Amino acid sequence: MPELPEVETIVRDLRPHLVGARVAGVHLGHPAAIRHPDPPAFAAGLAGARLGPIRRRGKFMLLGCRGPGLPRGTALIVHLGMSGTLCLSAAGEPRRPHTHLVLDLGADRELRFVDPRRFGRLLLGPPAALERLGRLPRLGPEPLGPAFTADWWHACLRRTRRAIKAVLLDQRVVSGCGNIYADESLFLARVHPQRPADRLTRAAGEAVRRALPIVLRQAIRSRGSSIADYRDGFGARGAAHESLFVYGRQGLLCVRCRTPLRRTQVAGRTTVFCPCCQR
Ligand SMILES: [Zn+2]
Repeated sequence: MPELPEVETIVRDLRPHLVGARVAGVHLGHPAAIRHPDPPAFAAGLAGARLGPIRRRGKFMLLGCRGPGLPRGTALIVHLGMSGTLCLSAAGEPRRPHTHLVLDLGADRELRFVDPRRFGRLLLGPPAALERLGRLPRLGPEPLGPAFTADWWHACLRRTRRAIKAVLLDQRVVSGCGNIYADESLFLARVHPQRPADRLTRAAGEAVRRALPIVLRQAIRSRGSSIADYRDGFGARGAAHESLFVYGRQGLLCVRCRTPLRRTQVAGRTTVFCPCCQR
């Protein structure tokens, strides 16, 4: 499932190609991906729109759109779900199965949203208004931004008895972290994923807070993890999965201490950790 580094990679790939482009045509595939407004209004709003700044917030992509019928601050908002991809393609390239949205950008270019497992979401509107309507979740601070402070993080940890891994996955506490980079951060911090958050020492909690941006930045440098369907903004695979320490490596030896890595379930998610290094 795409997490912060994968979404960030796509945003950086697409930015120089999308900003300023005009949507010459809209083709909808399966309408269930469109969560707001209804599919005809969604398509009508995008048709003829001029694309503006593109940015990432948590695991969401926000692509600015200006057009006659669109409220100020409108964005095309994309969440890739489990298996979604958002890629630039040549118009003549055959469309893959499960292509749910195609924006014709002229000059033989198309922006295509493909999502075989259909957990992805598309919305069109001003993000703040969609948040007020409950169509978008309220997200916690960005782990690579200045708001992810020690004070915020430790206050969040003290408030809950949930496992530390569950806290890392909670988008209201810190946005953009998912299963892969939660496991990797806890390994780097040498903290057991099932430790109750309120029982961590300040030093252990701080180790997790410092590990997360290191892990995320490294994955961005490697252009994201292509474990399943993830592809970058041009349809190519990332390489971050080649240098993971624990995720998906149950039964293999810990790179630090040579103990076999163990698999368990935390917060309903498969979790891999080193039973020796992570306490
Ligand atoms: Zn170990």
